[in-house]
Amino acid sequence: MKKIKEEPIVHLMYAAKNEKKNKVQLLILKKTYKIMAIIITDECINCGACEPECPNNAIYEGADAWRYSDGTALLGDATLAGGKKVNADAINEPVEEDYYFIVADKCTECMGFHQEPQCAAVCPVDCCVPDENIVETEEFLLEKKKILHKE
Ligand code: SF4
Ligand code: SF4
Repeated sequence: MKKIKEEPIVHLMYAAKNEKKNKVQLLILKKTYKIMAIIITDECINCGACEPECPNNAIYEGADAWRYSDGTALLGDATLAGGKKVNADAINEPVEEDYYFIVADKCTECMGFHQEPQCAAVCPVDCCVPDENIVETEEFLLEKKKILHKE
């Protein structure tokens, strides 16, 4: 936990995740700061290991269409956490064409299901990484989970 105040939080989270040896540090950082969503980078080798591990069905193979209702309790007109309105049954365009992708609205960082993002845990090339552009709080992610699964 040294140097937390002197180094950028993004780098600390990457370091903790990549080292994989210091999960406690990552957990403390996540509780202390806001949490970044997970994104799959173009280093993905399309092995498919992550897809069945996602509790929210947020992971799709490149070029696949997707729906909010896939693997969730959402049906028809739905309001997501944060107030975004969607048609859960509508078929949406793939986010990526050439490699697996995560639908950010469906990703809860595995909060409420697992201690750590399962996609990142199983990925053989460590290409499931925090997305600096999407920062969410633990509270918001748990609310997201509640709505996705109508709990
Ligand atoms: S972090 Fe968890 S919820 Fe998000 S895409 Fe990965 S497995 Fe799914
Ligand atoms: S586990 Fe990693 S390499 Fe395999 S499909 Fe998922 S993101 Fe790509």
